[in-house]
Amino acid sequence: MDGRVRLYAGMLLTVTSLCTAALFACAGGNAVEAFAQKQARTEATQQTGAQPQRAPSGPLEGMVIAVDAGHGGYDGGAVGRVSGTLEKELNLDVARRVERLLSEQGAQVVMTRTEDYALCDEDPPIRKKLQDMQRRAAIIREAGAQMVLSIHMNEYAGRSESGPQVFFREDCPAGRLLAGALQEAMNTALAPSRPRSALGGDYYILTLGVPSALVECGFLSNRQEEAMLLTEDYRERVAQAVAQGVVNWAALPDDKPAPLEAVDRSDEPTG
Ligand SMILES: [Zn+2]
Repeated sequence: MDGRVRLYAGMLLTVTSLCTAALFACAGGNAVEAFAQKQARTEATQQTGAQPQRAPSGPLEGMVIAVDAGHGGYDGGAVGRVSGTLEKELNLDVARRVERLLSEQGAQVVMTRTEDYALCDEDPPIRKKLQDMQRRAAIIREAGAQMVLSIHMNEYAGRSESGPQVFFREDCPAGRLLAGALQEAMNTALAPSRPRSALGGDYYILTLGVPSALVECGFLSNRQEEAMLLTEDYRERVAQAVAQGVVNWAALPDDKPAPLEAVDRSDEPTG
C-alpha cells in the first residue's frame, strides 16, 4: 500500500502497512531473477488488455470487474525483506492470475494496468500518485465496472506479521460484505497461522461507488511469507482464493447492501 493515498489507516494499528512509494530497492538475487524470468514467460503467453475481455458463461456472467494491480513504474511499493523484490511486480502477477480466473467464471475483467508502468505523466502539475490514482479511477468508471479488486502486498516493521488482510471502505456495507467473503476464502485456502478479519480503511480506489476491496496478499516484510509469495504455486493459490471469494460473494442472496456513493472529487486538481 501507499501511505500517501491512505487517508485513514483502519482500526488495527498492528497491521498497518508501511510500504510507501518512497521505498525503492535495487532488486537482485536468484529469487528475483527466477521471478523475472517467470514473469517474462507469463507475458509471452498471456496477452491482456485494458478493455474488458469476452467472457464465457459462469457464475459471474454479466459482471464487469476491475482488477487493479497496485503501484507500477516509478512506484515500486513494498520491498521484499530478503530478495528485494518489488511489490509492484508481484501485484501484477497476482492480478493477471485473478483476471484469468474471474474470466473463466464468466466475468468481464478490466485491468487498470497490464505492464510495469505508472499511470501518471513524467512531471505532472499535480502529485504523481494522485494523477496515477485518478487515471486508474477513470479506467474503472469508463469500463462500467461493478466491482473493484485492488491487489497489493503488505509490509510492516514487525517482521512477524503475516497472512492475507482484506480492506473495505470504512462504513460501506457493500464493501464489508465483499471484503468479508474474500478474507474468509483466503483464510480457508491459505490457512494463515493467525487468520485476520477484514478491516475498514480509507483508500482512494475503494471510493468509486461500487463494491470494492483492497487485498493485501501477504507480508513482504516476513521472511517466510516473502519466500512463499516468490513461488508461482503460492501466487496461483492466492489468486484462486481471491476468485473463490468473489464467487462466494456472488452466491450470497440478491438483497446485498448497496455501496456508499462515490466520493465527489470534482474539487481535486486534475493533471
Ligand atoms: Zn501496496
